[in-house]
Amino acid sequence: MSQILDFRNVDLFYDHVHALRDVSLSVNEGETVALIGANGAGKSSILRAITGLRKIRKGEIFYAGQRIDGKDPADLVKSGIAMVPEGRRVFPYMSVKDNLLMGAFTRTDKADIARTLESVLTRFPRLKERYTQAAGTMSGGEQQMMVIGRALMAKPRLLLLDEPSLGIAPKLVQDIARSIVAINRDEKVSVLLVEQNSRMALRISQRAYALTTGSVALSGNSAELLADDRVRALYLGGE
Ligand code: ATP
Repeated sequence: MSQILDFRNVDLFYDHVHALRDVSLSVNEGETVALIGANGAGKSSILRAITGLRKIRKGEIFYAGQRIDGKDPADLVKSGIAMVPEGRRVFPYMSVKDNLLMGAFTRTDKADIARTLESVLTRFPRLKERYTQAAGTMSGGEQQMMVIGRALMAKPRLLLLDEPSLGIAPKLVQDIARSIVAINRDEKVSVLLVEQNSRMALRISQRAYALTTGSVALSGNSAELLADDRVRALYLGGE
């Protein structure tokens, strides 16, 4: 099995805050991998390191066999890494259509972009209904679908999702979870999913890493982690 992402022995700081300590993790081609852990554990920092938004102090990051730490974020998008940021960063006054097209900013083949747009609208019919409306008028769940659609417009090989269920109505969380499974299956895209909703993340992933204060505390097969007493106590609210 080839690795799409290999994150090796990474340390990351914010001034004197030591946010990641010798973190290693990988995503195999075609896999969905979950990153779980409490607020401040370092989950978003891992995504910032992968996307080049924050420089690492130590370690190495490989994407599709190429060293990528230190590279320009826009070049990384071009090479197939797309990120869905936390908090649904939509452009509220722009239409759904224009928000989606922003996701294709590194692509030039208009016909191919049109095909991707069509497939995103087929996947999320709500976006087709709201196509010309200002994105800010949609519900939280719809906006989340739109930002996932926007990331797909980049035609990624690796999709990074930062807390897609945060602040979403419980009923819609299931829809989002189903969409992530379908995207992983249909689009041949590998997924790294950051979630505080550990139960959902473990259910839809094949493997997972649990972080505690900047270090990987546990990792393994998601189904096994779901049944693990330590995981239940620490990450699933003791249920
Ligand atoms: P959350 O779910 O709250 O986003 P997280 O697991 O994603 O949590 P990170 O955002 O990666 O955690 O933060 C890891 C640590 O780094 C925390 O202690 C946090 O306070 C700190 N940190 C994050 N961003 C900054 C920053 N810009 N400046 C200083 N410290 C930061």
